[in-house]
Amino acid sequence: MKRILTNQTIEKCGEEVKLSGWVHVRRNHGKIIFIDLRDKKGLIQVVFLPENNILYKLANSLRSEWVVEVIGKVNKRPGKMVNDKMITGEVEIKAKELKILNRAKTPPFEIAEEGKEINEELRLKYRYLDLRRQKLKNNIFIRHKVIRTIRRYMDKKGFIEAETPILTKSTPEGARDFLVPSRLHPGEFYALPQAPQQLKQLLMVAGIEKYFQIARCFRDEDLRGDRQPEFTQFDVEMSFIKQSDVMNLIEKLLLKIVKDLIVFDKTLSKKLTFNPFLKLDYNEAIKKYGTDKPDLRKDKKNPDELAFAWIVNWPLFEWNNEEKRYDSCHHVFTSPRKEDLNLLDTEPLKVRSLQYDLVLNGTEIGGGSIRIHKRMIQEKIFKLVGLKKEEIEEKFGHLLRAFEYGAPPHGGIALGIDRLLMLLLNEKSIREVILFPKTGDGKDLLMEAPSKVDPEQLKELNIKISS
Ligand code: ASP
Repeated sequence: MKRILTNQTIEKCGEEVKLSGWVHVRRNHGKIIFIDLRDKKGLIQVVFLPENNILYKLANSLRSEWVVEVIGKVNKRPGKMVNDKMITGEVEIKAKELKILNRAKTPPFEIAEEGKEINEELRLKYRYLDLRRQKLKNNIFIRHKVIRTIRRYMDKKGFIEAETPILTKSTPEGARDFLVPSRLHPGEFYALPQAPQQLKQLLMVAGIEKYFQIARCFRDEDLRGDRQPEFTQFDVEMSFIKQSDVMNLIEKLLLKIVKDLIVFDKTLSKKLTFNPFLKLDYNEAIKKYGTDKPDLRKDKKNPDELAFAWIVNWPLFEWNNEEKRYDSCHHVFTSPRKEDLNLLDTEPLKVRSLQYDLVLNGTEIGGGSIRIHKRMIQEKIFKLVGLKKEEIEEKFGHLLRAFEYGAPPHGGIALGIDRLLMLLLNEKSIREVILFPKTGDGKDLLMEAPSKVDPEQLKELNIKISS
């Protein structure tokens, strides 16, 4: 007999079925034993009656989280026994056969309870058990569906999904790089990408025209609060476009995601504060709200209200008083506005850029820009942010050279998938939408990483630990 899933039982009244999964809870009511059997789709009640003694005894030995296979008949539950909190609450299985596929130790926390009050370190150490719990599992399934919506939408719009390398060269996005030593080239290092920024721009030079990627990015920052050293961006780049083309593309996609979301999870209801999204000048945002990430919800306490707003007309630079130099507001590849180009030499702080950030309920969920595609301008920006000639050649020679071979005008954006999902799913932390997140101080408690390595490995890599 072929196994079916718990949610399929409702269409199989009167039929014999086979189910497999975990014992969620076992209850003995007088002479009857009930178990809630759990699989990836949910729960179903299984009933064991004392009439079959061997089966009954076996059922009586079951403990939470044991893995079992049950064959039995799907029966309609009598009216007053219907449980409308369960998808399968109108039916139950009268067990005929039971096989124990595996036993389990008592888990370190209750799987059947939904609360988050359990110590988070324990949840991360036993993430495979935490993921058995309904809420987290649901978040991960919705994450899959949202990413599927993105992929389908982008494919329809003529974009190709392309993978850029993970072992690459530093791609500055304002954070420290994670470095990977090269065994074959002693003393040399790869950097993990902070974002696929330069690579996606090179794809535009290559004539790909419409690129996207669900890209893992790595930033070695002093972790605060809700940051993760690795995170996922929905990364986009397009050629021959204007700022409004990128913004429209993303806005329509987000509207589709919100619409799909309430179909994926019927318990969610979402309402948009602005449709179309609000567009706010950077200066106005600062003047009116004192921040470039204002929370523009009418009811700031309502997580079901979504206030998407574009922040536009950014300055190209801000002054870094500590280092006594200009810093890019977005990144060094962002294009100045054409009409402000002449100010680059005289009043760089007055130059406006073609940057656009997307803010949702007071959190920045994405940002992008029209890029520089001419060598001369790019070199000028590098110099303004304090890079020396040799540094420019060493760090960015490849990009500058590429710009000399017919680089098209281009631009793009990246959205933080983790943050977006956190907000859409009314979660307080991005760890609630990531399969295997790290702790606030960057530790993977499940795999126990980072960890010491074999001295042999270090030797091969020509690395000596100095302390
Ligand atoms: N690479 C940028 C970032 O990670 C996004 C972009 O400009 O496309 O913020």
